[in-house]
Amino acid sequence: MGSRMIVKKHNRSRRNFLKALGAASLGSIFTACNPSAEASEGRPQTIPTRPFGKTGINVPILAFGGSLDTSMSLLVLRQAFKWGVTYWDTANTYMGGKSEMGIGKYLEKYPEDRKRIFLVTKSYAWTLSGLSQDLDLSLERMKTDYIDLFFIHSMGRISDLDDETKAWAHKKKSQGKIRFFGFSTHSNMEACMLGASKLGWIDGIMMRYNYRLMHTDEMKRAVEACATAGIGLTAMKTQGGGQVNTDSDTELKLAGRFLQKGFTDAQAKLKAVWDNPDISCVCSEMPNMTILMSNVAAALDKTKLSVRDTELLRQYAQETRQNHCVGCADICESAVHGKIPVSDVMRCLMYARSYGNHQRGKTRFQKIPVVTRRQMTVTNYSMAEQRCPQEMAIGKLMREAVEELS
Ligand code: SF4
Repeated sequence: MGSRMIVKKHNRSRRNFLKALGAASLGSIFTACNPSAEASEGRPQTIPTRPFGKTGINVPILAFGGSLDTSMSLLVLRQAFKWGVTYWDTANTYMGGKSEMGIGKYLEKYPEDRKRIFLVTKSYAWTLSGLSQDLDLSLERMKTDYIDLFFIHSMGRISDLDDETKAWAHKKKSQGKIRFFGFSTHSNMEACMLGASKLGWIDGIMMRYNYRLMHTDEMKRAVEACATAGIGLTAMKTQGGGQVNTDSDTELKLAGRFLQKGFTDAQAKLKAVWDNPDISCVCSEMPNMTILMSNVAAALDKTKLSVRDTELLRQYAQETRQNHCVGCADICESAVHGKIPVSDVMRCLMYARSYGNHQRGKTRFQKIPVVTRRQMTVTNYSMAEQRCPQEMAIGKLMREAVEELS
């Protein structure tokens, strides 16, 4: 019921707040850090780069997240390329293939750009033949002979990566179809990352990482282990959006503080991630020129967050922790005997509520078997709630998910 109303209320208050703050502050964000403005002053405008693990490749610190129909965003892709956003991330499943097909259209039009683009795609397939089929389809759709980095999508258990997968990755590399191999992870991320650091054949990992997750001991250890092992790390979900939308005073004060300093809270959250040099790149969905420009501006801007800024972000994360699932699926799912994919459902809610993309949340949610969805409404979550480190109202959220996304 009320979630969409909450989103509207949230957006309205935020709009009023920004209006009250005045056009001067907002203007400064785009003139102080506007990439075009930099160009007109003759300063370099290319996004900084960082090494991607031990691959020998330097990638831009900002990646184009392509979980959208990229055929509708060819101009945005063109501009992203020109500004140095040359790491492009997609997946075989995004928008039913339209994301990869849009990139194919782009590369057909600008084939000379291919060698400067670090192209990443992912497959959900859990058989080697399925991976091979998905890879060939991705190559065909994107009109390219090779993928720079091929991910297994959404890894939740490192034991799923066996010697056969290793041999598969090696074979595809020697065939020239992929250059590097790794996985993305949304749940049990720290365990997956630590496990990968011991394997010795994982080139890159894309994981949820933001001002909420980056300070835990587990995540610090996982990042450090991967960096030591030479695994390139790409951060996603860097805005830390959750399952419950809030409009707290702290949030508005925080946004005001950052605006006075010349950047938005969204830009501040990117800066918080870039503060860690072990993170090679932030992957961000940029469906329009405004968001692209804002993210590029943040990447070009050299102002760092102060210690106080970081503290305030941490404080805000702590205050709102009950609204944000951090993906430690083993903790709550073992409490419901593995019957309910709690972490996955939380992700659906995040897409619907925090991203405002109800359809995406719904499509993903409806992949959960009907029998499991029925069980979700009658399961007792009290043990899971007791164990949840974020103290989330799991039962309430599961029932809301069934109501909103079925
Ligand atoms: S609901 Fe709580 S325990 Fe379960 S994955 Fe999310 S944060 Fe972890």
